[in-house]
Amino acid sequence: MQRISHWVNNKVVAGTSGRTGKVFNPATGEQQAEVDLASVAEVDAVIAKSKAAFPEWRATGMSRRAEIMFRTRELLDANRKELATFLTLEHGKVPSDALGEIARGIENIEFACGIPALMKGGYSEQASGGVDVYSIRQPLGVVAGITPFNFPAMVPMWMFANAIMCGNTFILKPSEKDPSASMFIADLLRQAGLPDGVFNVLHGDKEAVDRLLVHPDIQSISFVGSTPIAKYVYETGTKNGKRVQALGGAKNHMLVLPDADLDMAADAAVSAAYGSAGERCMAISVVLAVDSIADALIEKLKTRVPNIKVGPGTDPSAEMGPLISREHRDKVASYINNAAGEGATVVINGTDKAKDAGFFLNPSLIDNVKPGMKCYDEEIFGPVLTVMRVKSYAEGLKTINDNEFGNGTAIFTRDGGVARQFQYDVQVGMVGINVPIPVPVSYYSFGGWKASLFGDQHMYGPEGINFFTRGKVVTSRWPDPRTSAVDLGFPTNR
Ligand code: NAD
Repeated sequence: MQRISHWVNNKVVAGTSGRTGKVFNPATGEQQAEVDLASVAEVDAVIAKSKAAFPEWRATGMSRRAEIMFRTRELLDANRKELATFLTLEHGKVPSDALGEIARGIENIEFACGIPALMKGGYSEQASGGVDVYSIRQPLGVVAGITPFNFPAMVPMWMFANAIMCGNTFILKPSEKDPSASMFIADLLRQAGLPDGVFNVLHGDKEAVDRLLVHPDIQSISFVGSTPIAKYVYETGTKNGKRVQALGGAKNHMLVLPDADLDMAADAAVSAAYGSAGERCMAISVVLAVDSIADALIEKLKTRVPNIKVGPGTDPSAEMGPLISREHRDKVASYINNAAGEGATVVINGTDKAKDAGFFLNPSLIDNVKPGMKCYDEEIFGPVLTVMRVKSYAEGLKTINDNEFGNGTAIFTRDGGVARQFQYDVQVGMVGINVPIPVPVSYYSFGGWKASLFGDQHMYGPEGINFFTRGKVVTSRWPDPRTSAVDLGFPTNR
């Protein structure tokens, strides 16, 4: 059985805890590897190595850091296909989806290459007589990232690129369900010339996370995952004096108004709901259809959904792969199977496919959902699109704003004025106007509102630089014997 171990000081280091996790191939349902799960002592040892690497890395010139990041970008570009095979093998996503994830991740590396142009403070000359005041930004120290299974390459890139370019050393605790992508990326960073200890990978579960959250030498925690764990990470990390950004789950609504191009809306809803088997925090999971077009839209969805080709990522014709695990597949199936009993209409039931050895489901479509039903109230995180019928724009907007999550949303309309009103009123962090998955480009920042984000700094982009640095303001005067005198009054700027 293949064993996946930690990455410390630019080398693979075997775990010593005696505890391992199982890594499956979701397309076959078989275990294909075991991954070491770090103990508290192993976490402490890695933190010590990251701490030792910090002074030299911090002192390394920004252009040298950028040179390494540029080389990392070139290596990632040259190895896209190989990295994508790990995503297909362990996560199950089909190659086009895996390559899309990598492309979006590389955008974050490109942004980080330009950080020297953004790590600037301000300068005020002659704030007082002979006194200049200026601000600088400095790295935090050892910072940690804890990532989910659904983007094993991109989400780590959201975090480590900015963190290390700002001069921090970074410990990644990837999802134990698909840990190989992080090891592959770590080796590319080594090849790019990153010094020992600047980027370490520690595999593990709750035990490792809990240690990172309380260890005094960890300065910040970046987390992406489900809402209950995000909340726990935020509360525990901040209680222990750390800066925390914790991104949680989602329930993303797409509001379709009567003047929308219904074919375009149906194509967008199907792509955004079933891509990556619905295991995306920006997946559309609820279409809010205004009554007058609801039947027509459902008809258009009904003709598209059965054409989606479900299969393993090794089949070049497959468009949608399996879910991450047997337990998750069964949980998703339970929402579909219980929906009719709750009063919804199951238009297409994809649970037949659950008989396969791999963790597959076919796409499902559920109409007439309402708040109070489990399939609406909870994040399903699978290939299930639900439709809620609303009387008006106002009811659609209220439904979105009443939802506990606020990650992404989209409006489909030809009316610019209504779209503008929507962007103004909606209580959601990322908004698409005729764009179903509005993941911001890397030079903006990513983050939801409400239960989709705990903390106040969004991830990557400019807010990523703020998160991974702290400000310092210097007030300086150079000795001038003409103005030197003892004065015990409070300094004023005259
Ligand atoms: P998860 O919360 O189960 O796991 C995320 C990370 O937390 C993993 O590294 C895991 O090892 C760790 N973890 C799990 N249980 C823990 C515990 N009890 N204590 C401490 N650490 C623990 O999430 P997942 O299933 O890997 O990913 C899917 C979830 O992530 C979905 O809810 C999805 O919406 C969310 N997600 C959100 C975003 C976003 O940007 N908001 C992006 C991707 C995924």
